[in-house]
Amino acid sequence: MDFFPVFFDIRGKDCLVVGGGEVAARKVSLLLQAGGKVTVVAPVLSATLALWAEKKDIIHRAERFSPDTLGESILIIAATDDMEVNREVSQFASARRIPVNVVDNPALCTFIVPSIIDRSPVVVAVSTGGAAPVLARLIRARLETLIPSAYGRLATLTARFRDQVKAQFLAPEKRRIFWEHILQGPVAEMVYSGQDQAAEAALVRELSGDIDKTKPQGEVYLVGGGPGNPDLLTFRALRLMQQADVVVYDHLVSPAVLDLARRDAERIYVGKERSNHTMRQEAINDLLVRLAQEGKRVLRLKGGDPFIFGRGGEEIETLSEHGVRFQVVPGITAASGVSSYAGIPLTHRDYAQSCVFVTGHLKDGSINLDWNGIARENQTIVIYMGLQGLAVLCQELIKHGLKPSTPAAIVQQGTTHNQRVITGTLATLSNQAEAAQMKPPTLIIVGEVVKLHDKLAWFHPGQYEEGSIIPSFVEHN
Ligand code: SAH
Repeated sequence: MDFFPVFFDIRGKDCLVVGGGEVAARKVSLLLQAGGKVTVVAPVLSATLALWAEKKDIIHRAERFSPDTLGESILIIAATDDMEVNREVSQFASARRIPVNVVDNPALCTFIVPSIIDRSPVVVAVSTGGAAPVLARLIRARLETLIPSAYGRLATLTARFRDQVKAQFLAPEKRRIFWEHILQGPVAEMVYSGQDQAAEAALVRELSGDIDKTKPQGEVYLVGGGPGNPDLLTFRALRLMQQADVVVYDHLVSPAVLDLARRDAERIYVGKERSNHTMRQEAINDLLVRLAQEGKRVLRLKGGDPFIFGRGGEEIETLSEHGVRFQVVPGITAASGVSSYAGIPLTHRDYAQSCVFVTGHLKDGSINLDWNGIARENQTIVIYMGLQGLAVLCQELIKHGLKPSTPAAIVQQGTTHNQRVITGTLATLSNQAEAAQMKPPTLIIVGEVVKLHDKLAWFHPGQYEEGSIIPSFVEHN
């Protein structure tokens, strides 16, 4: 180890920054966050620093650095672009045994500043000893994605109960077990999902011993898995996917996304393709309740967003009726993911000021939609589940006032490496889709914005050849 890692308490203490540019400003910002009393020595200040000086967040001494400036500082940072000044600061500070950091110059430093992941009061610091600051930043970026942003709130909550827990569990071993249970269990989950009051109440119950430990505490995570490309998952989705005991998923979830669930989690396929209703909705609802009541952490993984044509609402209604805890994680819905990857903005100042999402699912061979509300000028229409009824959909839109020449697109398996986009008009799209043998899942976009595809298409996943690429969506039979 080239450096000894420590965390300084600088609250209310004098810290000196030499230099008035943006680099200095970044360091000043960190010092201020940690409660330091910051003096900046520089003939002129950058806009950011000038603002802070005006607000009296910092003290500005408009002069060049001189040894007298050191004053009572407990640490010093030199961030000027003048090597001579930096060296001078380093020398004088070292001579007076004041810790000194010269930005980007480890040789002149007695301490270095790490990359920081701030979940105050939890702080993670990463350092490569000055060898590769960019690497430290990359490591930091990875950690940022792994550590839930609510860790700080969780730590604050546990701090409030520390003494009480200490008094109640005299043996350190018992305390450790208690805290591990809290930090890895439902209390922590409640904090992560923003239910702080419920978390505190649960912690109090745990302490009072009111909880029946023989009754397992399951939970359901209703998670949106996005339109297929695993890059489009949220951090929270990924975290919950990796801690679930059992995964309940349907055909819209791509294997690449499913792959990210915990390796040893049990996987239950509950299907639902048009003609092949593997499990009725009521049975799925009951299954979720049963698994949670067995004490399992159940990941209900859905394509896109669970609250958009996903029947997620119905599933959690049943859970709530049975008193099963749940949390909902939004996902990128097909309309938004697929349109981005197809280069078709859903709104545009010149072409569309509104956008509607509708389902083209046929019921008894017909489609019941508010056609007059949908078929409007300057409005983009996104149709989910519309492949089978495509011909009827196009006819109805024309019948209700849209021009046959209105641009329209159909996108198959959008966002994945099997994405196919076909553009045409309301008059032609149905025949084109048939000729191209489009298969679900497909999304249909109607409106002038479709014209932008030619100019804005940016995602070119390679020519689609039937059978030549591993399909992103497996056919389940
Ligand atoms: N909850 C999902 C929608 C479920 S309905 C969401 O928010 O996206 C199923 C329909 O979504 C499919 O019939 C299709 O119209 C659309 N869909 C989902 N993923 C898609 C994809 N990758 N490409 C094209 N359409 C998709």
